Amino acid sequence: MSSLLASLPREISHTLGSEPGFRGQQIFSWIHQKGSRDFDEMTDLPKGLRQKLEAEHTILPAGIDTAEEAADGTTKIRLKLNDGALIEAVLLRDTADRLTACLSTQVGCAMGCRFCKTATMGFIRNLDAAEIIGQLYLLETAAERSIDNIVFMGMGEPFNNYDQVSKTVQVLTHPEGRNMGQRRFTVSTSGIIDGIRSLGTDHPQVRLAASLVSADPATREALMPVEHKNPLPRLKEALMAYQQAGGRRITLEYVLLKGVNDRKEDPMLVRKFAHGLRCNINLIPWNPADGMAPVKLPQGKVLPLEEPDAKRVNWFREELENLGLTVVLRHRKGRGVNAACGQLATKGSAKNNSL
Ligand code: SAH
Ligand code: SF4
Repeated sequence: MSSLLASLPREISHTLGSEPGFRGQQIFSWIHQKGSRDFDEMTDLPKGLRQKLEAEHTILPAGIDTAEEAADGTTKIRLKLNDGALIEAVLLRDTADRLTACLSTQVGCAMGCRFCKTATMGFIRNLDAAEIIGQLYLLETAAERSIDNIVFMGMGEPFNNYDQVSKTVQVLTHPEGRNMGQRRFTVSTSGIIDGIRSLGTDHPQVRLAASLVSADPATREALMPVEHKNPLPRLKEALMAYQQAGGRRITLEYVLLKGVNDRKEDPMLVRKFAHGLRCNINLIPWNPADGMAPVKLPQGKVLPLEEPDAKRVNWFREELENLGLTVVLRHRKGRGVNAACGQLATKGSAKNNSL
């Protein structure tokens, strides 16, 4: 049975065939404005149509498998998709009590970043837009209130699944439905240039975060294979173009790894990369995850992955600030439930669980 969660009004009308054209809009509003999860609630539809919808379609494409809450109010839910695949989504609460949903875009990830737990799963499959939107709505059910912002920072590389991420934005910003502002979305990419260009063209108001991680090309390549085909100078050009086309302030994410990218020359390299960009630097001390291999750095150096101590993190932050950069130190939300950045991986994923 197919889910109607990511169908636009005209697509719903098309699916319904001979029904009057306005039915698509009516059903779309029931789902996205009135929060219906059951066709039977759609009381202004003829009973026969409700029964037909019930028999042939679903609204939510997944259910909650488990939910865990950390002491800091971060909630992680694990969702079971219709094919048995498991994915995770996280609800973050900020000090102003605003809620942000951190959504997955893929089951696993193909990008192979050495510091990221999701990478160890490999790539299993793309999520479709209904499965992405489903995460938001199930988080809202768990939170019993509506969510303000969405970040595509869960499992997966959003720009390796561009069409479904773009469809998610189209559905959730639709004026007949949820009508969210584009600025409430942030897409985080490991640095895929084509995706940055497409986002700037299709959704110029959607915010962009790019995982810089190191501004030294050789170190970045050792940590992030994406650097090979999307090298720093071209990444910078793409970010500049996004901004020149009306894109908003960019976030450069910098996962701090002890001895690897917190060296004394690194703050200056970051400043050079950031020069000319309107950006914030988001410092994220590495969140430990088990079973991660040491990194092979340029010149044959091999280092285990470790988070720098608080003193080093502060030093790094101050160096960047003294160089004129705006720095945000990301709080370590969700560690208690392994929901912090880079800790997301589902052990019993579809690949391991025979379906
Ligand atoms: N694939 C996208 C979005 C998901 S990762 C991307 O890479 O940008 C979200 C953020 O978590 C990225 O900035 C990534 O660099 C960071 N991250 C990955 N593993 C981490 C870890 N173990 N500790 C801290 N941050 C991590
Ligand atoms: Fe994929 Fe992002 Fe993890 Fe890299 S950091 S492996 S792109 S999820």
